[in-house]
Amino acid sequence: MKVTEHLSNAKKPLFSFEILPPLKGQKMQSIYDAIDPLMEFKPPFIDVTYHREEYVFQKLDNGLHKRKSIRKRPGTVGICAAIKHKYAVDAIPHIICGGFSKEETENALIDLEFLGIDNVLALRGDAVGNEARFVPEPDGHDYASSLITQIINMNEGKYLDENLQNVAKSDFCIGVAGYPEKHFEAPNLANDLKYLKQKVENGAEYIVTQMFFDNQKYFDFLKTCREAGINVPIIPGLKPLTTKSQLINLPRNFHIDIPQELSDEVEKCTSKEAIKQVGIEWGIKQSKELIENGVPCIHYYTMSRHGSTYKILKSLA
Ligand code: FAD
Repeated sequence: MKVTEHLSNAKKPLFSFEILPPLKGQKMQSIYDAIDPLMEFKPPFIDVTYHREEYVFQKLDNGLHKRKSIRKRPGTVGICAAIKHKYAVDAIPHIICGGFSKEETENALIDLEFLGIDNVLALRGDAVGNEARFVPEPDGHDYASSLITQIINMNEGKYLDENLQNVAKSDFCIGVAGYPEKHFEAPNLANDLKYLKQKVENGAEYIVTQMFFDNQKYFDFLKTCREAGINVPIIPGLKPLTTKSQLINLPRNFHIDIPQELSDEVEKCTSKEAIKQVGIEWGIKQSKELIENGVPCIHYYTMSRHGSTYKILKSLA
């Protein structure tokens, strides 16, 4: 079923999850171990992130270095198929522009269609290795908005090869990313929203937000989006804070703020367990307030670890 149908059929707030593929060489069981306890909360869908190649430099015998590309977390499509099969729940692969030509994107979408996967989250992806900024493939997409157009074209039966006869139409429901604290490359929020609106006009049917730790940022974002004429569901994304190092890593990697009250609480902690507990209590507070304000669904960034998310959701029951 499509995410939009889950949202419109829901009688009470839904709880969805994002997991990431295990490191290469790890078993699928690690994913099941992360999902099993969370099934108690009847997720309508589970997202699986996509991780493109990274570059490492190998030293050669002659002293020179050779650039080698590796993918540490392959398996997004396979994991989605396995989740769908094992739990009968909708699995949503993240599809990115980076590293894909349009032809490769089309082939990946065909695989998904064959697997009965009819939801995708369409993203641009980030720069890799030592690139200063995101660089699309020579025949790839530069922004998520044009990736969306390709998916919509397939939904209308338009493939890259215009000579194909009697083609099947795909039927993907497309989600996109939104940034309550602005995408880090955007000069300002208004500019970012202009392009978010373009993604919706091109065919995106819902938005999932970047994580935030201050609900007011989400409420303000929602209001500004509505004023800008962005009227699709906007699903808030929450990440339970679990370690002290995240006070530095999350703002650095995701370009978000951690409220002072939360960082003060974490800094007072004398054990790892106490920090996790602070993150759980903060997540409960955020979740309760979002529910009171009528959000259709809360999406938890579990990082494939169920512990804190489980405790947050258990306390909401
Ligand atoms: P876009 O919507 O393309 O926007 C990128 C930037 O370009 C923004 O600043 C925007 O304002 C600007 N822009 C957009 N269109 C134009 C235009 N036509 N002209 C000029 N400027 C424009 N990354 C992964 O690699 N794998 C994942 O699985 C993954 N999952 C994610 C899930 C969520 C919910 C979120 C919020 C992010 C995720 N990301 C993932 C990270 C994402 O790929 C990065 O944040 C990336 O930098 C932007 O992706 P986007 O789809 O938002 O880009």
